[in-house]
Amino acid sequence: MPSGRIERMDTNSLLRTLPKTDEVLASPRLADTLAATPRVLVLDAVRASVDEVRARLLAGEVADTSADALALAAAGRAALAMQPSLHRVINATGIIVHTNLGRSVLADAAIAAIAEVAASYSTLEYDVDSGERGSRHAHVEALLCRLTGAEAAMAVNNNAAAVMLAIAALSRGREAVVSRGQLVEIGGSFRIPDIMAESGARMVEVGTTNMTHLADYERVIGSETGLLLKVHSSNYRVVGFTEEVSLAELVELGERRGVPVMEDQGSGVLFDLRPYGLPFEPTLSESIAAGVSVVTASGDKLLGGPQAGLLLGRADIIARLKAHPMARAVRLDKMTLAALEATLRISLDEERALREVPTLRMLTMPQSEIRVRAEALAGRIRDAVGDEASVDVIDEIARAGGGSLPLAEIPTAVVAVASQSTATATIVALLRCGSPAIVARVKEDRVLLDPRTLLSPAEEDAVVARLVAVLGG
Ligand SMILES: *Cc1c(COP(=O)(O)O)cnc(C)c1O
Repeated sequence: MPSGRIERMDTNSLLRTLPKTDEVLASPRLADTLAATPRVLVLDAVRASVDEVRARLLAGEVADTSADALALAAAGRAALAMQPSLHRVINATGIIVHTNLGRSVLADAAIAAIAEVAASYSTLEYDVDSGERGSRHAHVEALLCRLTGAEAAMAVNNNAAAVMLAIAALSRGREAVVSRGQLVEIGGSFRIPDIMAESGARMVEVGTTNMTHLADYERVIGSETGLLLKVHSSNYRVVGFTEEVSLAELVELGERRGVPVMEDQGSGVLFDLRPYGLPFEPTLSESIAAGVSVVTASGDKLLGGPQAGLLLGRADIIARLKAHPMARAVRLDKMTLAALEATLRISLDEERALREVPTLRMLTMPQSEIRVRAEALAGRIRDAVGDEASVDVIDEIARAGGGSLPLAEIPTAVVAVASQSTATATIVALLRCGSPAIVARVKEDRVLLDPRTLLSPAEEDAVVARLVAVLGG
């Protein structure tokens, strides 16, 4: 068709006007970018911008093919490529140990400890008294023992690694016994049966989903049994007609039959949080007092420290774990050790921990205090946006998050925002896409902002400023 040929010729001649990469790079509009950005990233950005314009021309669209226009587009692309991928987010969800937002925020002392060892040489594996090689475990072991009553302790990369190490060291090639009610998935593909398989233990399931009795364990113990495992239901509860064997009963059975007992406690809680209105969660000291051979937990859940896995228990068992080849593969780096040591040191004083460890402070902040902060925040938003939105303070429920305290309904107060002119989904998207990103909840077509997880007055200011930008006023 003649007309088709004419169109194609038009496109082809347009494509020929596309500048060469070097011409775009020479545009004054890229000068600042080239000065501040690695050349490889600017090149990628230029090529991507030329490709995009070429694709638009081929699709029959109109596009500016000048070197300056392409340079401007490339400068935008290069700036985006220079943004850190891992960056700060303001958490307005009220979910405290928010796994996707990085779990625990560290105490100031822990942050300072990281900065110090990161910027200098350190005693990571050096004993200044003797001038000889020291142990990296030494920095946290005595503190962990002091806090929990354990004979010995070590810390690894995360609790998943702690569980794998303990199962591998204690029952590789042998049988590990676990209740069917505890074959849990913690999330992010941490499933007890898979961890058992990877650790080389043969899993022996006992009992049923809702009921497991001591006799069920007793019946399967034999010469092949290497371990009795109890997994804490940290992120769910089985309610109704249920029974599980207590840790103390399991320990008694293990001692009678000469089999070590391991507990995956999960949350790493050190203090009884019931006085602050939170539900009962067994503490690490209680597991040790019950006589467990080894108990494992996360460092960044209710302990409020860095990502880490804690292993606490009998001296002979911990010695075997430290000597296991897998221990080297899952060992902690100096920055995490510094943060963990600082967090544990604060935790020696419960009152200080509740003040200084952000996770504990946010968990135990009374609703009355949150309500005062919510009212102040709502007042500022109302003043700024005027009639653009309805702004109310309502009572709501905050969550511990991170698969901890699953049933805990933490009474909180939130600022609820809705607008006639801007859809709720648009408001949350715009909050999320700004810098820094603000993550909020949505409920019944309103945006909910919980001051409980806003870390400072500056974060509250940022929320107000962004809402004004989004809603006008
Ligand atoms: C959270 C949790 C894990 C996984 O711990 P990570 O520190 O995320 O690796 C394992 N077991 C239990 C019971 C948990 O609660």
